[in-house]
Amino acid sequence: MAFIKLNDLEVEVEDGTNVVEAARQHGIEVPHYCYHPGLSRPANCRMCLVEPYVFFPPAGAIVPDRQLATGCTTVLRTAPPDRKLDGKYDFIVQTDSPRVKKAREDILEFLLVHHPLDCPVCDQAGECDLQDFSYRHGHDKSRYLEVKNVPPKKDLGPDVLLYSTRCIVCTRCIRFCDEVSGSGELGLIHRGSHDEIDIPRNHGGAPLQLLDNKLAGNVVDICPVGALISKDFLFKSRPWFMKKTNSICAGCSVGCNITLEYKEDGVYRLKPRFHGEINQHWMCDDGRLGYHYVNSDDRLQLPLKRVDGELTPTHWADALALITEKLLGTEAADVAPEDIVVIGSAQGTNEDNYVLQQFAHDVLKTTQVGLFGQLPGEEHKFPQFTIEADKNPNTAGARTILGAANGNVVLEGDALWERVAGAKVVYLVSGGPERPLEAAESAALEKVDFLVVQDVLPSDVTQLADVVLPGTTFAEKDGTFTNSTGWVQRIRKTIDAPGEARVDWEITQQLAKQLGGEMNYHFAGEIALAIAENVPGYGEATHQKVGDEGVKLT
Ligand code: SF4
Ligand code: SF4
Repeated sequence: MAFIKLNDLEVEVEDGTNVVEAARQHGIEVPHYCYHPGLSRPANCRMCLVEPYVFFPPAGAIVPDRQLATGCTTVLRTAPPDRKLDGKYDFIVQTDSPRVKKAREDILEFLLVHHPLDCPVCDQAGECDLQDFSYRHGHDKSRYLEVKNVPPKKDLGPDVLLYSTRCIVCTRCIRFCDEVSGSGELGLIHRGSHDEIDIPRNHGGAPLQLLDNKLAGNVVDICPVGALISKDFLFKSRPWFMKKTNSICAGCSVGCNITLEYKEDGVYRLKPRFHGEINQHWMCDDGRLGYHYVNSDDRLQLPLKRVDGELTPTHWADALALITEKLLGTEAADVAPEDIVVIGSAQGTNEDNYVLQQFAHDVLKTTQVGLFGQLPGEEHKFPQFTIEADKNPNTAGARTILGAANGNVVLEGDALWERVAGAKVVYLVSGGPERPLEAAESAALEKVDFLVVQDVLPSDVTQLADVVLPGTTFAEKDGTFTNSTGWVQRIRKTIDAPGEARVDWEITQQLAKQLGGEMNYHFAGEIALAIAENVPGYGEATHQKVGDEGVKLT
């Protein structure tokens, strides 16, 4: 650890920490634009200048260095005993001296020379580093009287617009495409005060290569001003009108940490949240833009039952009574426990799947338990990021929990569909974006006498059902997902489910109660406690311990 004098504080920081991060760790803001902790450090914006102190032998004293230093590239390390300052400090630095403050004011004045100051119509207003740092560290007026540059607005790719007038040429976006996605689409054209970000174009100005790599949306997040803008979010909401909750992306088994931003009427955007061992600072565009199904007008809002071949809306009591009648009524004698197959969802939480297997084991007495989920997609590997082929957030958790709690073998793939084809009753929990069925899957489900499907959207699967129960998405419930590397992470309820849709484990529990089962969970955290007690490896995976950081399975 390095022992530092930081302004008036004496602090210890890990060797190798730069001044910007050391200050941040101790509640001191060192404003910066080009520096981003996930990228290389060109130190070109000069906004993070700080004042280091050095020993000056002629004076026999410790004095401010002749030049200010960039805080992003000034790395703190333990000094040898004979190089300590004042006999004890490894480094002495001021982040708020008059010289530093004057430098910041001047840099900000330069950065605003060509800036249009169009905050009232800028999507970034309210979360803009240029706005915030100008307010906290800048001049209150400009001395620039000449005509401002007005470079053109540019369409860079499927979801990214560039408002070039707002760009401060920090080059974060260029470095992201060079270093993280490795796709290198962005570069600088022109020189000096006419610098502009652009994509490669032919002589006529038509794009030769768009910014359309699957990580492109991250450049919008890291742009410190309102220059790079998401088309998906453009003019949808002022940031201060949205609420934010920490959650996990449900788009694949990586389990990227996200902030879910929402209002009462739905989800507005997903942004990546740092996790050092899972997604670093990033997320992919499939995950980022994959929330739209949550807001869909087609969401299932009422239970459905098949009447004269058509799925018809009904109420919960009727739908549950139909299922109860099938399993307890006059025809029930024909249905042996092993004729019933219960299929959990890799889109569902660990808690959903735990209640489901308990229902199968304790109430239905069947050992026929299967796992269903989204069809696999493609894996994409980038220099610093991987998108997995498994498009479910909880395959690992669902598989273990459906199987381990009661020693069941979990049926998947061909084995599952063979078993389904011979079943009399199937209770299939799906969820997530609309899931097309493959031919073998349809053929098997068509043979089932009585098919109950729990899902969030009408789909190939619900079309075959006798009863459809409306469930919830990852944005509408609390619980945990286990990612492909064994991290158990929390999702949180943000918005209410539409209409009369219900949380999946609550539906299963209600069914269990109607069939005489004794299950009485009140909230997801209670189920997580039962999982921690009964599922090997999950001993630490209570909601309290999982928190915002997650817990790695042992
Ligand atoms: S567009 Fe944004 S991220 Fe890119 S150089 Fe300009 S200010 Fe920086
Ligand atoms: S990599 Fe997977 S978990 Fe991460 S954002 Fe993309 S879809 Fe979501």
